[in-house]
This record gives sequence, C-alpha cells and structure tokens, in this order.
Amino acid sequence: MKIAKIIVDVPLMQTDKAFSYRVPDELLDFLMIGMRVHVPFGSANRLVQGIVVDFAEEEIFSDLKAVSELLDPEPVLTKEQLWLADEMRHSVFSYKISCLKAMLPNLLNSSYDKLLVAADGSKVKWSQLTEADKVLSAKKVRSAELSVEYVAKSKENRKTQKFVVINDVDKLSAFEIEKRAKKRLEMKYYLLRHANEKLSVKDLDFSSAILKFFVENQLVHIEEVELSRTQATFDAVSSDSAKVLNDEQQSAFNHIIKSVEKPFLLEGITGSGKTEVYLQTIAHFLELGKTAIMLVPEISLTPQITNRFIARFGEKVAIMHSGLSDGEKYDEWRKIKSGTAQVVVGARSAIFAPVENLGVIIIDEEHESSYKQDASPRYHARDIALLRAKWHHAALVLGSATPSLESRARAMRGVYELLLLTKRANESAILPDVEIVDMRREISDQSSNFSHVLLSKIKEKIEKDEQVILMLNRRGYSSFVMCRECGFVVDCPNCDISLTLHMDTRTLNCHYCGHVQGIPQTCPNCQSRKIRYYGSGTQKVEEELHEILPEARVLRMDVDTTRTKNAHEKILEKFGHHEADILLGTQMIAKGLDFPNVTLVGVINADTGLNLPDFRASERSFELLMQVAGRAGRADKKGEVLIQTFNPKHYAIELTKSQDYEKFYEMEMRFRRELSYPPYYFTVQVLVSHKNEEVAIQKSYEIAQMLRQNLTEKSKILGPTPRPIARTHNLYHYQILVKYRFEESLERALNQVLELTQLRENKELRVLIDSEPQNF
Ligand code: ADP
Ligand code: ZN
Ligand code: ZN
Repeated sequence: MKIAKIIVDVPLMQTDKAFSYRVPDELLDFLMIGMRVHVPFGSANRLVQGIVVDFAEEEIFSDLKAVSELLDPEPVLTKEQLWLADEMRHSVFSYKISCLKAMLPNLLNSSYDKLLVAADGSKVKWSQLTEADKVLSAKKVRSAELSVEYVAKSKENRKTQKFVVINDVDKLSAFEIEKRAKKRLEMKYYLLRHANEKLSVKDLDFSSAILKFFVENQLVHIEEVELSRTQATFDAVSSDSAKVLNDEQQSAFNHIIKSVEKPFLLEGITGSGKTEVYLQTIAHFLELGKTAIMLVPEISLTPQITNRFIARFGEKVAIMHSGLSDGEKYDEWRKIKSGTAQVVVGARSAIFAPVENLGVIIIDEEHESSYKQDASPRYHARDIALLRAKWHHAALVLGSATPSLESRARAMRGVYELLLLTKRANESAILPDVEIVDMRREISDQSSNFSHVLLSKIKEKIEKDEQVILMLNRRGYSSFVMCRECGFVVDCPNCDISLTLHMDTRTLNCHYCGHVQGIPQTCPNCQSRKIRYYGSGTQKVEEELHEILPEARVLRMDVDTTRTKNAHEKILEKFGHHEADILLGTQMIAKGLDFPNVTLVGVINADTGLNLPDFRASERSFELLMQVAGRAGRADKKGEVLIQTFNPKHYAIELTKSQDYEKFYEMEMRFRRELSYPPYYFTVQVLVSHKNEEVAIQKSYEIAQMLRQNLTEKSKILGPTPRPIARTHNLYHYQILVKYRFEESLERALNQVLELTQLRENKELRVLIDSEPQNF
C-alpha cells in the first residue's frame, strides 16, 4: 500500500516526525512531494494542513487514516527546501512545520485561490472543483495541458492598466470621418501614427467620448492587463549600465566568480564600490543561465539600493520584503517560482526564495542583526545561505564595511576568503573628516541638543546650498506620557514597560504585547490634569531646529513619519530633489543612502547605544557611526562628520575618527576573549517564562541545574537572571546563557529541556531556545 509521509501543521514536538497516511487510489498518480494536503488529525479527526515530505510502500494491518484533500495542483516546496528544513532544525530549536512554513509566502499559509487555465484561455477556479475534478486537473497540469494562475483572495484590488488596441489598421485607415469632427480626425491619425505601440488609455490626450466613438465603430477595443502589484516601482526606475571596475573591484570579482570552495568576505569601506561588484557578479551568473539572491537589511528602508538592482536588471528582479502586502509578496513569489525573475532582492526571508539553479548568494551589510529572525524559527540568514550555497554549489559573498566579529574572525582563520576594497570607487570622493565633539564641555546650555560647533557647521552648509543629515540614536528612547504633578508614567498592564505614545493615532501602545489604550485626561495616580506628552527624541530635536534655524527646511524620518506605505520613499525623494536642507532621523537614515549633495553628517547623541546590557553594544555603536559617517561627501564635495558624545574616550567612538575598523577589531576581540564571548565562544540563550513569578524562578533554576549536569565543565552557564524587561504579556521571564566551544551533547541537553514543557504539570511553562541571540 502506498503511504504518504506528512508533516502536519500542529506545532507539537511529536509532529516533528512525519505521520503516515494512506494515499487514496484517485490520488496515487499525482500526489507529489512538496504538495500541501488536508488530513484528519487527532482523536477528533480535525482536518489540518500538512505537507507531503516522502512516500513509502508499507504493508498496513491497522486502519490507516487517508489523505482527504489535495490543496495544490503542483508542489509548493522544492526538495531543496524540505532538506533545508531538516538541516536548519538542528540550530533553531523550532518545530519542523514552522521551518517549512517560513519558506512559504503568507498567502499560501492562509488562503488563496488558483485558476486553471486551458490552452483556449478558458479558466476554472480550483476551489470550485470537486475532489475528483481536482485530481483530473492536477493530471492535466502535470502534462502541461493546463497552466496554473494564482489569485489572491485578499481584499486588495488588483491593479490593472487599460490599453487601446487597433482591431485592423487597414479598416481604421479607410474609415471616413467628417472633416468637422476635428478631434475624431486627430484621434484617427494619432492612432495610425502609433499603430505599433502600446497605447495606454491613461496617457491618451482625447476625451472618453472620442474613445467611445472608436470603440463603438469597432475600430479599436480596450484591453485590460493585470499589473504585478509592484509594477509601479519598476516603471519609476531608469536603466543603468555597468561601470569599469577599478583594480581592487576587479580582483574581488575575479576571485568570486572563480571558486565556490569558501564563502567570501568582501570588506570595503563605505563607497568603495561593493554594490558595483555585486551587480557585476550577478550579471556574470545570469549570463551563465543561473540565478541570484541578493539580501539587504530591512530593504523597505533603503529603496535607493533596490532601485540600483532594478536599474541594472529590470524585469528580471523580484523584490521581497516586509513592507509588501501579502498579495504583493505572493506576486513576487510567483515570479520567482515560474522562473520569470532570476534575481531576488530582498530582506532576511528572501533567503528562502524558491529559485532553482542558484549561482550566487550575496548578503550585503552582513553584520546587521536584522538577518537573525527574532521569532520562531530563530534562524540566521547567513546560516541558511551557507546551506543553500552548498546544495547548489553556488558562490556566497558576505559584504560589509564593518564585518561582524564572527565573520571577520572566520576570515582570519581561513574559513572565509577575505577580499578587501580600501578606496572609494568614485575617485574624487575622499573619506570625510570626522570630528568628535565632547559634550561635557558644552556646558553653556545643558538643555540644547546642539553643540556650538555643530550649529555653526549646519549654518555654513545651508548657506553654501549643501545638505545635512542629522542622526539621533534612538535605541532605548521612546515617547511617553507623564504626569507633571507626581511623575506617574503610564505602564502597560501586561508588561513591565511604559507605553509608547503614538502621536498620529493619539494612542498609547505597548510595543511588546500590542496593548493599545487612549491617553488619560487626568493622572490615574493623583487625578491631576497636568498630563504632559514627551515626544520622540527626533520630534524634540526638530522643534529645537525650527527655533534656532527658522530658515532651514527640515525633513524628519522616524517611526512616526514613516508608518504609512511608501512614506520612506517620499521623504527620501524630496530630500534628493533638494526640497529640504536637513534630513533628521533615527538609525533608519544611516543605511545605504547616497546623496551627492550631503556634505555634513551630525550625530546628536553617539552614546545611547553604548550603555545597553549587551556584549555587542560597542560593536553596534561603532558600526552605526561608521555607517552614518559614510553618508557624507559621497561625490566630489568633501564631507564632514561631527559626532557629539559624553564618552569621547570610548574606543567605539574614538576609533570612528580614524575610521579604523582594523584597530577596533583588535580591541574588541581582546574584550571578547577576556569575557568569553563570541567569536571565542558560541552562545545559546534559554528563556523560561511563566505567569507565576515563583514558578518561573523555580523552573529556571531547575533547567540551569539540568544543563550544568549535562554539559561539560568547559562550558559556562550564566544565570538564571531576570530579563531586562522582566515581565511581558503577563509572563515573567528568566534567562540562562550557555557559552560553549565544543559541546557534543548540547543538542541533546537542550532537547531534554524542551521535553520538560511536554509534561502535563508544565503545561503553562514556556521555554524558548535562541541560538546565537542578537539582542539581550
Ligand atoms: P558601496 O556599496 O561600497 O558603498 P557603491 O557601489 O555604492 O559603494 O559605490 C559608491 C559610488 O561609486 C556609487 O555612486 C557608484 O556608482 C560609484 N562607483 C562604484 N564603482 C565604480 C567604478 N568602478 N567606477 C566609477 N564609479 C563607481
Ligand atoms: Zn499624577
Ligand atoms: Zn504590553
């Protein structure tokens, strides 16, 4: 009897193993690995979604449940993706089904419909077919008699564009129009002149009445074409061609295309032309008939980068990032799956893009923590990239101006091959001068955000018609509401954290659990009416700028001004057109922006990130400062950078002056070695949560004890300690950190910890394991 091995969509430890289901006769021929099905599950035989991962021929004695419904006419997961899920599971401590689902677009995880299209163009909806017809159709899909078109069931309207199509040029030409009907005549000749072009109705300079006349006389008809939902982005970008690489770029390129033996670490200062190397590397692999994945961090923040790829590769590009709606994501996924798109540009999750025949994977700004997913499955895109590169024998390039210490250390040990770009690619652009401003000396006006030197530089630049970028490091800052009488701050009822004020919606929101409430009129503590709003840092800085420099035109970019779709792009576009003198923003302006007219970058507060209880605090601060400094003087005007700080002697700040990554690496490595942190040690965090604080403490001690017993003495086990924010979602959190070098029984020990949660007595206990956590 034919048995399908199926991973069911029920997140439980026992469902990590595939369950056996009988394949009913009518499905025998076309049920394939990678297809989704509905199967009965549990004692109640509830129908759940499952993914076919294997087949077996077995003799069955008992009654085996059968597959009940086919969800897809063709596989939605490739063999490679099934293999990836198996491989990644060992490092992410997540259920196999969540690994598999991470590879599917949301629309597939929930609901969507398919149209089956026949050769004559007739279409039927998959959802309206009977089971028998589904099977029949699936057969036809396999023999290519039918093709599949996916339609989003989502509420969004599909964008369409209307075109005027001439039915018969000769007939139109012969059609007589009265001389008095001037507009009609004009239209006729216009149509004839443009007979070989696609004429968009929108662009026509004639009234709809005129158009109607031509339609009614059967001279033309209107064709409605469905646009891919991201089409607008493509239309807006003008094309661009390859540059002649300089010696360093050429050498890096030659290495990358020659060997797939080791991953490459492309370390190049900002503006050294890394992106140009990426572009030409991708072009090379496309010529070989291969495909490429290009990862960039938080892509929605950097439309400038996406546009460079679209400019070079046009319609071959598919874009995947969190700023897209489910429908848009789905469209892009289809473009990849069907082979229309050969270059995938995207954020973290794009690493799972279902491309075949992969030639190269590039991860830009590889040090970015956003490459690690901080929800289950907690994978790092770099690890997935390594696996996929292995499967495809593809090249892997990690690029950065400030590589993560982990990657740099691997390059030093020869695990990666180091490629260096040491000069700015645009010869007239030299690295900016960086000046550190000691804010402890600026005691004249404690309340101001601006030192005298920064203010006078801003004025100077504006007078010269140049532009300025100001960054406020917002880590650890948010806007809130406080009572001026008693100092009461409104906290989340479920979490140990104050609620964040959202000015646009006039609400108080919890960024942890999603709790939302209105702003109180009176203080809940003392009934005073003196409730005061403390706006975001950027908002306050903006107000101050208006006061001191009323003539300066300021654009603000932070979470409040960018909540709506495309708000980022609009702000950056305005700034690019010089509709403002100053772009003031949070970290989101540090990355990837390339504005030739910007000659001054000011950092308002360099320190806020330094004091966080995170061993990567210095590394993150240094990276951020180096990155934002790279926004200045990118063309032929020399740039200047002013960094305001209360810790001018801290090495993470001082070394940005000489922009000396090498020295920073050396000092930071010393610190990591002394304190046994990565890259000298690996880390795993175990987070134990319970709604009862006593139980959370007790269980976390129990778990720490278990780990101490099961791991070697060379591993270091820290904790349990309360989390920095000790309670969220009405749960108390305690954490244990394991630092290890070689630990054969680690996976077994951690799985044993997870098994604790399967016990009936621990029903309310949550244990979460995070390998190489990025945020503490
Ligand atoms: P990075 O990605 O390292 O920051 P970019 O690739 O953005 O650097 O290059 C910085 C600038 O130099 C861009 O404006 C780019 O067009 C230009 N550039 C890059 N390579 C070359 C080259 N070989 N010749 C001329 N200009 C180049
Ligand atoms: Zn009060
Ligand atoms: Zn909350």
